[in-house]
Amino acid sequence: MQNLLRTDPEVARAILDETRRQGAQLELIASENFVSEATLEALGTVLTNKYAEGYPGKRYYGGCEFVDVVETLAIARVKQLFGCDHANVQPHSGAQANMSVYLTVCKPGDTILGMNLSHGGHLTHGHPLNFSGRFYNVVAYGVRKEDERIDYEAMEALAREHRPKVLVVGASAYPRTIDFAAVRKAADTCGAVVMADIAHIAGLIVAGLHPSPVAHADFVSTTTHKTLRGPRGGMVMCQAKWAKDLDKLVFPGVQGGPLMHVIAAKAVAFKEALEPAFKEYQRQVVANARVLGETLAGEGWRLVSGGTDNHLLLIDVFARGITGKAAEIALDHAGITVNKNTIPFDQNSPMVASGVRIGTPALTSRGMKEPEMQQVGTLMARALAGIDSESELAAVKRDVQKLCGRFPLYATRLETYEGALAKA
Ligand SMILES: *Cc1c(COP(=O)(O)O)cnc(C)c1O
Repeated sequence: MQNLLRTDPEVARAILDETRRQGAQLELIASENFVSEATLEALGTVLTNKYAEGYPGKRYYGGCEFVDVVETLAIARVKQLFGCDHANVQPHSGAQANMSVYLTVCKPGDTILGMNLSHGGHLTHGHPLNFSGRFYNVVAYGVRKEDERIDYEAMEALAREHRPKVLVVGASAYPRTIDFAAVRKAADTCGAVVMADIAHIAGLIVAGLHPSPVAHADFVSTTTHKTLRGPRGGMVMCQAKWAKDLDKLVFPGVQGGPLMHVIAAKAVAFKEALEPAFKEYQRQVVANARVLGETLAGEGWRLVSGGTDNHLLLIDVFARGITGKAAEIALDHAGITVNKNTIPFDQNSPMVASGVRIGTPALTSRGMKEPEMQQVGTLMARALAGIDSESELAAVKRDVQKLCGRFPLYATRLETYEGALAKA
């Protein structure tokens, strides 16, 4: 930090402030998590200097012997974690992981069958502004109105009618277990390739708390920074028959040189995920989500689909006349970080939205358990009930900070930063 403070005090200051913010707020954004110190150490290394286009043992540059060690370890660990035939750990993000899969199987204009975005799907599953919606003909399936769960029969009917090249399953805001066998069955009616995008639930799958798609999907894509608790990034696993094509499409198809410092941090996070403690962590993530949901439901808030099987919840705040946008702002004033989110069959636009999405991976990484989830649920309910009262939101914020104070985050790192700043 000393060097950074000297060279660029503005950026150093912002990093210090962000470190403080992460510790002082209740982080409930379902796609976020807190990586370990070991993962952070691997990220901030000289591996960022290395060009390593190609793959271990087959690079376009010299001097790759040590980054080869790192990438080989990362790949071996993914295979052990998920039991997949092949893994490519180079995608810079989840979006690029998905792009690599589409380019491996589709030509522009081909049909993709993906989940409706407002029902929980992701931008890269066919949003008109995303490359997926621009390059491909997108057909969408969704959830049933009655129970807000994926309608696999309708998915199969759409597959028969539109004969997609790829059937995409996986979501950013779906609180229920996904039936990958049913997806395979739907895809087999038209010979479609299955891509399971497990960006949100990868950690749960590793821990055996959600069924694995590996036996059912041709490709499994994921991010590494959500429940998997690694650095920001992506990866793709696939069946052996797709391995060569996929590798060619990640590089040179979609990307240039891999981010070797990020791949090192991925390897570290995968090692952590192989430990028994990781399974216990994921069990707690799911238990925490259930208790948080029960607490909110007990306070009179409607949960989409009635609850959760995984790490996230969708609260239908509009059922009590509050927009997702207003709820997000009020909770932010109370020190509780969430994101507004559309709910299935939403009457509001995505920028306003009727829901709020919350998840427990980050708070669980801080060590919070069921009793704290009851407190968090009560604090959220208080903030939402007091949405028009800045004094009530400030009162909730004081209680939030008390709770956060009991679960220090990056404490040593913060001390080092503060010490450096005091000396500067
Ligand atoms: C987060 C997410 C992605 C994209 O990840 P980025 O790293 O932000 O590009 C893709 N698919 C799903 C289902 C996601 O939730």
